[in-house]
Amino acid sequence: MKKRILSGLRPTGKVHIGNYFGALSNWVKFQKEYECFFEVADWHVLTTDIEHTDIMQQQIIETVKDWLAVGIDPEKAVVFVQSGVKEHAEFHLLLSMLVSVPRLQRNPTLKEQIRDLGKEEEKISYGHLGYPVLQTADILLYKPEKVPVGEDQLPHLELSRELARRFNTLFGETFPVPEPILSYAPRVPGIDGRKMSKSLNNAIFLSDTEQEVESKIRKAFTDPKKIRLGDPGHPDGCVVFAYHNLVNKEEVPDIRKNCESGKLGCVECKKNCAFEMNEFLNPIRERRKNLSDDFIREILKQGTEKAKEFASNTMREVREKMNLWR
Ligand code: SF4
Repeated sequence: MKKRILSGLRPTGKVHIGNYFGALSNWVKFQKEYECFFEVADWHVLTTDIEHTDIMQQQIIETVKDWLAVGIDPEKAVVFVQSGVKEHAEFHLLLSMLVSVPRLQRNPTLKEQIRDLGKEEEKISYGHLGYPVLQTADILLYKPEKVPVGEDQLPHLELSRELARRFNTLFGETFPVPEPILSYAPRVPGIDGRKMSKSLNNAIFLSDTEQEVESKIRKAFTDPKKIRLGDPGHPDGCVVFAYHNLVNKEEVPDIRKNCESGKLGCVECKKNCAFEMNEFLNPIRERRKNLSDDFIREILKQGTEKAKEFASNTMREVREKMNLWR
């Protein structure tokens, strides 16, 4: 019997290379080893953006096209839409009774998000404060033994583990306490050197054209002290060097040596980087071209039905254990 894992991403419409190297590339590998549930976390988008629901459906489709184009296989994994499984909302409500407000306010990722959004803490919504509880519902409904996480998400998983234990203590053994799978997730900077993010307008997307990639890399942040060919450079901290590390690994030692000695100039280095990035993205673009909206809708319909079957069994058990009206 394969162990089960659950992981999800927000449907931002366009998946960027940070999402790919941080999560999706691992998901593709996990499919061989685990029974996988991959969630399109559309309700999570609403916790930070409630004003653009009109574009959500198309964003879901575009996101899942990218997932399939990089190798997520709906024959091997259940790919589903969170809002299509209403049990997530019901369980979220019940779990929210098991956690205190100060416990949620201590969430370090929430503080980081508030800072990135430029919001004041007292102005965030009730839904935003409680998103780690929704995330816990997303996880526990599928009773996974493992959850893949980056180091920055460990505090969320810790809350999910606490809530699983709390539920089991109050109502009887029901949920496995999920263990993290800490997978390698390199920090992928945006072209301006900040964290890569669609909202910061600094991302390279899997669906970008060759010209878009070239233009973005041409503008990317490099060592500010290296102005012309011959100047010795410092590749650590250079965005272009970080991209070489992702898509052009074999040449990294030479790039470092030639950058530091001044033999390699930034113009040439960026050109090479754009070429390698496009070589990496070309097969993904090719596969994406052949995925129609209707095909994606059908994949999501089937995946969401499978997820719903699993989640409704869990909720039946939860209602029984909690002695709720049924
Ligand atoms: S030569 Fe390449 S690695 Fe060195 S600073 Fe310029 S772009 Fe960065």
